[in-house]
Amino acid sequence: MKSKVASFAVDHTTLDRGFYLRSLYTVARIYPIKSYDMRFRAPREKAYLTPEVIHTIEHLMAHYLREELGNSVVSFAPMGCKTGFYLVVKGWVPQRKVMEAVLKVCREQSALRTQSDVPGLTVVQCGNPELYDIEGSNAALAEYGDLLQELLKR
Ligand SMILES: [Zn+2]
Repeated sequence: MKSKVASFAVDHTTLDRGFYLRSLYTVARIYPIKSYDMRFRAPREKAYLTPEVIHTIEHLMAHYLREELGNSVVSFAPMGCKTGFYLVVKGWVPQRKVMEAVLKVCREQSALRTQSDVPGLTVVQCGNPELYDIEGSNAALAEYGDLLQELLKR
């Protein structure tokens, strides 16, 4: 079926792990809003992130990316297919700067020890604070950090 969803036009059978600019929107024809595809897992590998890992990373990135990029961050959200995340950034922030911010969070938040190291994981601040995986999140962030570091060398 034909669709206007940009990501449906991407062939996911050949898509690799990576950091992609998926869509660019403009407000009032000039102000950019960019949606990035942070692909932690290649879909063809069928090695999906678990809900616990996804939720932990969602909290970490939502919090720490705003410390790095301020209110340029519009949203950070998991992909329903569990292979990665969407990061939406507004304004004229270079992609390299966004990637460096993500790398910094990956590096600094991949050696966590307890639930209390994860911002916002409380009954008041979250809909399901029991859903987390510290070790799994550490591993996934370390692995994605290595990939980003390679991509930034290019
Ligand atoms: Zn939550």
